[in-house]
Amino acid sequence: MTHHAPAGAPLTLFNSLSRATDPFVPIDPAMVRIYSCGPTVYNFAHLGNLRAYVFTDTLRRTLNWKGYAVNHVINITDVGHLTSDADAGDDKMEAAAERAGKSIWEIAAFYTAAFKADLARLNIRTPTLWSTATDHVQDMIAFAREIADKHCYRLDSGLYFDSGSVPDYGRLAGARGEETVGRIAEVDGKRNPSDFAIWRASAPGERRQMEWQSPWGPGAPGWHLECSVMSMKYLGAQFDIHTGGIDHREIHHVNEIAQNQAYTGCAETGANWWMHNNFLIDRGGKMSKSAGGFATLQSLVDRGVHPLAYRLLCLSAHYRSELEFSTDSLSAALTRLRRLVIAVSALRDKAGEAGWMRVLDEAEAGRGASSAWQRAAIESGLSDAGRKLLTQFDEAISADLMMPRALPLIEDVAAMKALPADERLRLVATMDLALGLDLIRLSRADLRLRPARAAISEEAVEARIAARRAARAEKDFATSDAIRDELMAAGIEIMDGDPLGWDWAIALD
Ligand code: AMP
Ligand code: ZN
Repeated sequence: MTHHAPAGAPLTLFNSLSRATDPFVPIDPAMVRIYSCGPTVYNFAHLGNLRAYVFTDTLRRTLNWKGYAVNHVINITDVGHLTSDADAGDDKMEAAAERAGKSIWEIAAFYTAAFKADLARLNIRTPTLWSTATDHVQDMIAFAREIADKHCYRLDSGLYFDSGSVPDYGRLAGARGEETVGRIAEVDGKRNPSDFAIWRASAPGERRQMEWQSPWGPGAPGWHLECSVMSMKYLGAQFDIHTGGIDHREIHHVNEIAQNQAYTGCAETGANWWMHNNFLIDRGGKMSKSAGGFATLQSLVDRGVHPLAYRLLCLSAHYRSELEFSTDSLSAALTRLRRLVIAVSALRDKAGEAGWMRVLDEAEAGRGASSAWQRAAIESGLSDAGRKLLTQFDEAISADLMMPRALPLIEDVAAMKALPADERLRLVATMDLALGLDLIRLSRADLRLRPARAAISEEAVEARIAARRAARAEKDFATSDAIRDELMAAGIEIMDGDPLGWDWAIALD
């Protein structure tokens, strides 16, 4: 089989290293290799964390859509990530286990499973490989041994990386110099403030739950080491794309690059593209894991918000922009998802069961693989008008994943009366391979989640609405208003004359 550059608009991706949007050229066009920094599994992921994985999934789906197969590794950090970016503070895992009176392994297993369940609810494709840090400690020790002589020095507290020993340390973080890359002082005896621990030796007499023997005494690996080691092990010394949140651009990825350079002895950074999603901002301050109460995906579900409304919220902003999280932005996303789902349901009704099933089969087959042949099946026989829309869609997602521009196009398709329902359904299906909103399958009923605290069942709502309709037909507005207030008190909002015919919705507080 020969591989050639996929047809369509040229894909460009912003590279934090060059600080430019560069045409994407894979190292091996047959398989694009991506490493994404994974979660620290000491607690549930908050919605900000999940934005990072909606971003990597958008990247991966776009590559798939454009015909590339992708080898995607996400790591699970179950050791080494400290409560502060300085080499001080506790290991987040140790601290969480102590608080809960459980073993670290129990904590890690529980939150790893919860994380994977969150990704599934967001329709995020499973990575090719989940790679767990504690399964790779011997690899980390071997890596550290390789670079110890030339690039590291020992202090009582462990083995430290000398950041002055590699060329242009901190280039990824940009020209801000001391105030950013230099901000991790705090350990006595460091040669440079930006030096960091590769091995954290246990203090004499201290027993950690997680501890390994090493040439530098018993202890645990530093957090940055795991990503260098696992990305190199599974994707090679130089792969295509490394992703993470924007916070990783300043320290974590800077230090990974330094370790990679030390190990390979060359100036290559380890990945051709370093890509970073901007933050989800929560002015209400609910997202911080350490602050106790924070917004999880489950907390949205408990309020009756479908998880894919959160995915849509993420897609409505470009990944490099800050995104504000609020009740308003969330309910706008939910409304937008509802409108799409209602429009697609109507198309499904028009196209008939058989037509819909055929599109569904085509969209299902080869899930997660390169979508080239899958798209060819769905898109065969499209009209010129349909193809024109797809070209616009392709241009949008190919322009550094401009999903905010792609979303209105799928909305246009749903509303294009000139095209037959079957064709519109197929356009939605193919676009949704990239957007991942599950639009071909979702129904109105799926979107109506019962809030955890709702005091009323779906049937009861329908019954009260029928009673209200009857009252209104008899111009008994007192009864009609009373029913409305009664439902409102139960968390159900009635929408009179809703153009979408939605009738009622769960009220967000
Ligand atoms: P952690 O579990 O803390 O290791 O973080 C997992 C991922 O979430 C990392 O890629 C972080 O950069 C990213 N991240 C953390 N907070 C936010 C936020 N508020 N918005 C977007 N991404 C975030
Ligand atoms: Zn990492």
